Amino acid sequence: MTSSEIFDVVVVGGGPSGATAAHNLAKLGRSVLLLDRAGRIKPCGGAIPPRLIRDFDIPDHLLVAHVSSARMVSPSDQQVDMPIDGGFVGMVDRDVFDEWLRTRAAEAGAQRRIGLFKRFERDETGATIVHYEERSADGASMESTVRARALIGADGALSAVARQCLPGADRQPYVFAYHEIVRAPPAASSFDGTRCDVYYRGSVSPDFYGWVFPHGDTVSVGTGSARKGFSLRESVGGLRDAAGLATSETIRREGAPIPLHPLPRWDDGHSVLLAGDAAGVVAPASGEGIYYAMIGGRLSAEAVDEFLETGSAKALRNARKRFMRLHGVVFWILGVMQWYWYSNDRRRERFVSICRDRDVQKLTWDAYMNKELVRAKPVAHVRIFFKNLAHMAGLASA
Ligand SMILES: Cc1cc2nc3c(=O)[nH]c(=O)nc-3n(C[C@H](O)[C@H](O)[C@H](O)COP(=O)(O)OP(=O)(O)OC[C@H]3O[C@@H](n4cnc5c(N)ncnc54)[C@H](O)[C@@H]3O)c2cc1C
Repeated sequence: MTSSEIFDVVVVGGGPSGATAAHNLAKLGRSVLLLDRAGRIKPCGGAIPPRLIRDFDIPDHLLVAHVSSARMVSPSDQQVDMPIDGGFVGMVDRDVFDEWLRTRAAEAGAQRRIGLFKRFERDETGATIVHYEERSADGASMESTVRARALIGADGALSAVARQCLPGADRQPYVFAYHEIVRAPPAASSFDGTRCDVYYRGSVSPDFYGWVFPHGDTVSVGTGSARKGFSLRESVGGLRDAAGLATSETIRREGAPIPLHPLPRWDDGHSVLLAGDAAGVVAPASGEGIYYAMIGGRLSAEAVDEFLETGSAKALRNARKRFMRLHGVVFWILGVMQWYWYSNDRRRERFVSICRDRDVQKLTWDAYMNKELVRAKPVAHVRIFFKNLAHMAGLASA
């Protein structure tokens, strides 16, 4: 039997994109149900830029580490340190971070519910009926329904909402990423809890990179690849050796897909809109997705609010349009960089070399930290552009 309960919006998925969408819609006065399956910590390196911390009012107590430099490691073990002048990258533990975002949404008025989205349909009035599975007090699973005027699919990579409403969404290319959470060495050891190590090496990943990210009491050691058959576990074992973490206690082993391209469409033309990983929104080359998921959540809330106000489903398209206007160029540049620099060890070696350049370091950090290309420094951009070209063409030495 279909429930008579109706919300303005049902948001499926309580990760950064869904929790942000629910928070924003609740603040706009909309009735919102935030439906999350719960029970699993999202596998994630947990690095977030200051722009995210600023734009989404993230309190400092959620940051388990403040990172002040990155070490780039090449195939030949050339190590290039990139200090952050006067800033830091924040590290969050996703179980705590995501729960905090969901609680904030609930405090703004969103209703939370634990349930597994199964499918949706439309009734004769055009309302969306969302079918989900929930557990009763005695642990039995049962199917429930709820009605909504709009549905946001923020249920992550391989989204069930996307698969139902957008043909081809199930064929999205992705990198599969895997990491191990290990106990951090004691403070007196040589391990630096304020530095992220990034390994560009074919044996670590043939098409992505490996990382060692500090998280206070723990460390995330991971890698990713789109290549089937590549052993991510073996690679992480090698990284743990290299980082002196081989014998540290392993707390969790886990993995998840990272989508490689934004989907060409995020809405179904009626009442459904996707956000975050469900829409394929992760920065190429870096795999950074939390900031973009939260921006996507905010833009999807605005677009759905316009849709509810005007009744025009065209308003749903604004989420993607506005996102690509803000970040489309950077995604394109990062896509080209990934395609070129991550293709073989000779290029990876040169890539790490150019990271020695102070201009490259400054612009890389500016772009990452503030999510803007620095228009105030056209000369530095031109210089780096030509250096990059020279390296790509093999004219500059490694
Ligand atoms: C190993 C790894 C390392 C990463 N490291 C970083 C990093 O350091 N920095 C960074 O910025 N990004 C990183 N990313 C990417 C980042 O984790 C994602 O881009 C980000 O989590 C996307 O947020 P989201 O809200 O769109 O999706 P998710 O975080 O995946 O959230 C989806 C939510 O939907 C829920 N859900 C799923 N299916 C259903 C269903 N059927 N019914 C109900 N609920 C459902 C899930 O429980 C979850 O809460 C990493 C990813 C991986 C895999």
